Amino acid sequence: MMRGLMQEWPLVVTSVIDHAAQWHGEREMVTRTVEGPIHRTNYAELHLRARKFAQALQRLGVGKGEVVGTMAWNGFRHFEAWYAIMGIGAVCHTLNPRLFAEQLVYIINHAEDRVVLLDTTFVPILEAISDQLPNVKAYVLLTDRENMPETKLPNSLCYEDLVEAEDGNFSWVAVDERDACGLCYTSGTTGNPKGVVYSHRSNVIHGLAAAGADAIGARSTDNILPVVPMFHANAWALVFAAPMAGAKMVMPGAKLDGESIYELLDSEKVSITAAVPTVWLMLLQYLEKSGAKLPHLNRVVIGGSAVPRVMLETFERDYDVEVVHAWGMTELSPVGTLASFKSGMEDLSFDQQMDVKVKQGRPIYTVEMKITDDDGNELLHDGEAFGHLMVRGPAIASAYLKGEGGKVLDDDGWFDTGDVATLDPLGFMQITDRAKDVIKSGGEWISSIEIENLAVGHPKVAEAAVIGVAHPKWDERPLLIVLPAEGEKPTKEEILEFMEDKIAKWWMPDDVTFVDEIPHTATGKIQKLALRKQFEGYELPTAK
Ligand code: ADP
Repeated sequence: MMRGLMQEWPLVVTSVIDHAAQWHGEREMVTRTVEGPIHRTNYAELHLRARKFAQALQRLGVGKGEVVGTMAWNGFRHFEAWYAIMGIGAVCHTLNPRLFAEQLVYIINHAEDRVVLLDTTFVPILEAISDQLPNVKAYVLLTDRENMPETKLPNSLCYEDLVEAEDGNFSWVAVDERDACGLCYTSGTTGNPKGVVYSHRSNVIHGLAAAGADAIGARSTDNILPVVPMFHANAWALVFAAPMAGAKMVMPGAKLDGESIYELLDSEKVSITAAVPTVWLMLLQYLEKSGAKLPHLNRVVIGGSAVPRVMLETFERDYDVEVVHAWGMTELSPVGTLASFKSGMEDLSFDQQMDVKVKQGRPIYTVEMKITDDDGNELLHDGEAFGHLMVRGPAIASAYLKGEGGKVLDDDGWFDTGDVATLDPLGFMQITDRAKDVIKSGGEWISSIEIENLAVGHPKVAEAAVIGVAHPKWDERPLLIVLPAEGEKPTKEEILEFMEDKIAKWWMPDDVTFVDEIPHTATGKIQKLALRKQFEGYELPTAK
């Protein structure tokens, strides 16, 4: 047996910030602070301050393998803190502030967070629950002395004071690359949230794979704006992929509205950005109103929910921005697929190109993928057959923290994503639906996503959701729930007419209803569960 003679170099995330600081030390990180002003720093300074905060964390008594929570927007202090936590061998547990109080109490206690870092914005959220968090020894407010608020939080400390007290003369704590470094709970639409535990190794491998040219395509010359929050599945790997490349990072803080995001895209000449569709809906509305353009932006990565075709077309045609549709989930670190072109697709017509891009795309390297029927038989890659989407790979969860949810892999190591999808002959995956959202009509399945995306193509529709409603003959039939565009009063008839001939007749909604608001989950997805409750017992006109 001949062994490789390469150096044993553990895949640890601190090597990412080391590299960025040494070879791209001057590259900037620009933050819109929660206090308001724009703050500028660079990788060299971030690296030094991360080491100082690492010393501070050790002084607070945080040991290897212990968990530190963060409830913070994307910003320079949050970024430094991540590397500091991981750099002392501790585990960075991102807390989604949009979760309900009970869920936050549950996950902070379940994960046994020792210290919680927070932006001042979130003081009220943690004040309301801190008496139920017996394990938390200290709360660190990510601000300076001048901006420290009055707070009832027990043992609250000022981040800048802690950093200032240290000298940064610190070597990262040695860890095994398989040790945990990150923790993120799934939103938990049913049951308690479950903890996904990332290792140093999985984050490095995933960062490299996600940075690739056909994925995010990060280069040192890029200016990258992750709108997607760091508390939402590692900001889709950008926290690792951008410094790996030495790209400038632009951090939006708390302001994610169309105008604020546009300001940063423009003033910082952002070339790559990423977020869920609802963020881009706000940006596009702002652009339309203001007449502003996007001359610097090359690429926008959109995922988390399906990208409506009209959004794709607007970015590509009206603003000359390349849309890369992506699919993933917390359990996948999170990127699974991206819809980057294959050879020859550049020559397709605009419409044919959009046909490719509405699909969620092809797996990045390290993600293995298949679709199966209910009995586990693999289905054809013909773009027609749809089944359970199964994945496996080195940056995909093998279990949840403390064994919650039991065994999550089948005997061959495949993880069931809970999504239903097709795969086409070129390897492009398309999500039909979440298994629990698919509408079961007369023994056949209807994709709620496809109807929603068609409906939002109507100019009088801002957002649309489709749920299955009980039907005496067909089991379930689709109900279309519409949030009208600002100042518009669409009718049921004009919307149905618009959809006619664009989908199979039996997929047409049995009714259309209008609402003032469509509820969203903590990660920006339409909350189907809440809608199903709201419309429980709804009587379809076809049911009489
Ligand atoms: P994330 O943190 O990426 O939002 P979650 O774990 O909260 O991940 O949710 C993952 C789920 O979101 C997927 O299983 C899928 O149902 C849905 N999803 C993600 N991206 C897309 C997409 N591009 N199109 C349709 N559904 C998507």
